[in-house]
Amino acid sequence: MTRLGFIGLGQMGGQMAKHLARAGNDIIVFDQRRAAIDAVASAGASGADSTMAVGETADVIFLSLPDPAAVEAVVTELQPTLDQGAVIVDMTTSTPNTTRSIANRLASDGVTVLGAPVSGGTSGAENGTLTVMVGGDPATFKACRVYLDAFAANVFHVGDDPGYGHAVKLLNNYLSDAAIVATSEAIVLGQQIGLDIETMCDVFNVSSGRNSATEDKFPDSISNGRDVGFALGLMEKDLRLLLQFADDNRVPVFLASVVRSQVGATRTRYGDDGDMTDVYEYTREIMAPAEDGSR
Ligand code: NAD
Repeated sequence: MTRLGFIGLGQMGGQMAKHLARAGNDIIVFDQRRAAIDAVASAGASGADSTMAVGETADVIFLSLPDPAAVEAVVTELQPTLDQGAVIVDMTTSTPNTTRSIANRLASDGVTVLGAPVSGGTSGAENGTLTVMVGGDPATFKACRVYLDAFAANVFHVGDDPGYGHAVKLLNNYLSDAAIVATSEAIVLGQQIGLDIETMCDVFNVSSGRNSATEDKFPDSISNGRDVGFALGLMEKDLRLLLQFADDNRVPVFLASVVRSQVGATRTRYGDDGDMTDVYEYTREIMAPAEDGSR
């Protein structure tokens, strides 16, 4: 039986690792936080005491880490422990260049890398309904597909280049972030003349203005005072990586810089642990009339 490994058991990784364990896989897991290991062990996984212990035991290792720097650090620790034929499936939101670089580095050891970031948020991770976009060797993708199906409703192979999955993921998050920034501005403007969120979203959602913020975030979360569970620190990171991706390819992008500035200002106001929905709160704050009512 193929032995799985999982490193990075946070909001996303913890849930994905639990799905893999509950599906009956033999899986060994590690995180810097002991409590995160214990939570996944309760679903049937074995806990490891280091990254290296995972590398020494597992044939297919999943990563769900905060950023490309953490991926580089973990892969550097893993590399000497990996056997020829091992596979790394990186589900971190990272950059195409980072994924290509680790894939090239590990290829000489006979280790294959799939870049396989996910979309669908913490609820998608919990319910096993994530979307996974995979770049890399098609035969390795085919062999790993069964594991991805344990926590995903939609799995795409987007190309043989291991960086392609991460490219599609950064483009997707840019669109989602631009949608909440633009929708917040439109809704706050409407509210200032007395329109309410529900009325506006009802119209937008059967008209050409509909998007992921009008369809889900405003009616499901913001109107009910609930978070969507995507931290501002991660949101800003994704936009920073998108701009870096554009820069690496010397492709000018314009609106992305504005969206990043708006999200960055929101993060400055609400902190890294603030929620994506705070973009709306911040927009309300900066668009509010002056105390004397003047504009
Ligand atoms: P998180 O901060 O909850 O989890 C990251 C985990 O990695 C933490 O438990 C941390 O202790 C662990 N970690 C960090 N460095 C480590 C190391 N060197 N060794 C072992 N463990 C280490 O973040 P998350 O929300 O689970 O997101 C994980 C990744 O998925 C990020 O790249 C994020 O951008 C992406 N993502 C998040 C969401 C979301 O809605 N939260 C959605 C899609 C994608």
